[in-house]
Amino acid sequence: KAKERGNNFQFYSSSLNGISVRKMELENGLRKALEFNQLMLYYQPQCSLTTGEIVGMEALIRWDHPEHGFVPPSEFIPLAEETGLIVPIGKWVLREACRQRKNWSKAGIADFPIAVNVSVRQFEDDHFIEYIAAVLEEMDLDAGLLELEITESIMQNLQRSSYILHQLEGMGVLLAIDDFGTGYSSLSYLNRLPIQKIKIDKSFVQEVPFLASQEMLVKTIIDMGLNLNYIVIAEGIETEHQLEFLRQNECAVGQGYLFTKPLPADQIERYLERNKSG
Ligand code: C2E
Ligand code: CA
Ligand code: CA
Ligand code: CA
Repeated sequence: KAKERGNNFQFYSSSLNGISVRKMELENGLRKALEFNQLMLYYQPQCSLTTGEIVGMEALIRWDHPEHGFVPPSEFIPLAEETGLIVPIGKWVLREACRQRKNWSKAGIADFPIAVNVSVRQFEDDHFIEYIAAVLEEMDLDAGLLELEITESIMQNLQRSSYILHQLEGMGVLLAIDDFGTGYSSLSYLNRLPIQKIKIDKSFVQEVPFLASQEMLVKTIIDMGLNLNYIVIAEGIETEHQLEFLRQNECAVGQGYLFTKPLPADQIERYLERNKSG
């Protein structure tokens, strides 16, 4: 028995080491990625469910690792948050997204805002507001063309978050709650924050029509959003059926593979062209 347990422990600890070796490699790799421009942004449109018009564009980070290949953000964003690297990475994302939005403006591409994911660690950075102001200034970009997607976790530090959100509102930056319904959230506080949009998480949307309870949840979030004057956007729309369900329930905006997967900027430009003529 004791021996068995010993072996189990051996196995356990070496697999733990396995994990931390990969983690360390990824962490070092991430630093290099920043330095050697291995990070890139893909873009996914947000479409009006009534007119089909493109009303927004989310920037999503991609890392093309020279040895491991494509590392999904679900793997390196949590690590970047843990190590604090999310702060410089987040700065790069913000600047790159704003640069791209400005280029699109110069090319006469319609004035939908660019949506950037912001993790709570960035929010806690003392220079967050200053940095955003500096980037908008540098790129000569209208603040109304920048939208920040934040999660409900910012409510864990409500006082500070509220202060920052109000400052952003004052600057004219748009604000959205991401992954709505999955996190810690107090509706009474939510309503006091200067947020214009809520994004229904794809985990709910994808259960339509398979789980009646999730369908009801999606319906309820849309109704609540409408009543509280939020723009409600559903992410992860993959089927016509889901699209129809969301339309029938008056969800304003949608995003998902049904429209297109996230694509690099040049491919998105072609998508926009096709969307305009078609
Ligand atoms: P998220 O912000 O909830 O983004 C939505 C995710 O769903 C994206 O995954 C997107 O590619 C994917 N998606 C879009 N449409 C569909 C669909 O129809 N079906 C399915 N199955 N998936 C769909 P991605 O790009 O892998 O990003 C994962 C998460 O990583 C994001 O979730 C976000 O939390 C985080 N992330 C991505 N880019 C950044 C970034 O620049 N900064 C920060 N802080 N986090 C980021
Ligand atoms: Ca997002
Ligand atoms: Ca989500
Ligand atoms: Ca998210």
